[in-house]
Amino acid sequence: MLTRRTILAGATVSVALAAPPAFARRAGWPGGARAAVSLTYDDGLDSQLDHAVPALDARGLKATFFLTEENMQARLRDWQAVAAEGHEIGDHTVSHPCELKAYSASRFTREQVTDAEQYFNANFGVDRQRIFAFPCGVIDLGRGPQLETELRYISVLRKRFVAARAADGDPNDPRQVGKDRYLLQAIAPTYDRDDPRLAIDYVRKALRWGFWAILIFHAVAPKRLGDGDTSIASHDLILDWIKTQRLWCAPMRSVLRELKVETA
Ligand SMILES: [Zn+2]
Repeated sequence: MLTRRTILAGATVSVALAAPPAFARRAGWPGGARAAVSLTYDDGLDSQLDHAVPALDARGLKATFFLTEENMQARLRDWQAVAAEGHEIGDHTVSHPCELKAYSASRFTREQVTDAEQYFNANFGVDRQRIFAFPCGVIDLGRGPQLETELRYISVLRKRFVAARAADGDPNDPRQVGKDRYLLQAIAPTYDRDDPRLAIDYVRKALRWGFWAILIFHAVAPKRLGDGDTSIASHDLILDWIKTQRLWCAPMRSVLRELKVETA
């Protein structure tokens, strides 16, 4: 679940790049790849276990799953198996709140972060390097001017997470990832339309620039039934296209490690 939201806000994030940057790209990614791509799946949905994981496994790809505690408990064993085979588990809160005005930093920490982290630590192993994904792409916590609400949210996340993924913006400049790691940019290319071309065009930008593209998916189903659903056919096309490109496809944590920004 995701609502469109511009995340550009002053000093805390990179400005989205409308045109290819003039500067040279990074020297290289592992395996001689020209860009990095991370596949991320939000909300801990059953359809991801049933359709996305088998598609990834068939192609030897590893992804990041941002689990919402309330959604995934019924299939905990299956999620543990997904983690055991090398996919990354990220934190997408306890109950996926999209309206955050009424939260103070301490109440959000207590109700949405501490509980989820305790649950994930108990069931997936203690992990101080977990990554967070903003529910609904909302990056404002509590009331006040935008910069204040964003900084409030980030100050909560800094205490518990190594990085956080937003839901908008261009591929990430690897040289800025350390600075921007609590607002990493990403898109949900099939959220509004079940069309693989948006994902491919977005990753092509990363290829041109030598950047890191992060894609967000929600339900992966035989057929699109509503907003956010990606058909298995579109999902397969995107994964197959990625396999043909000089791309390093890796979970977000692996990319952070490669960029040496994990342990700040
Ligand atoms: Zn979500």
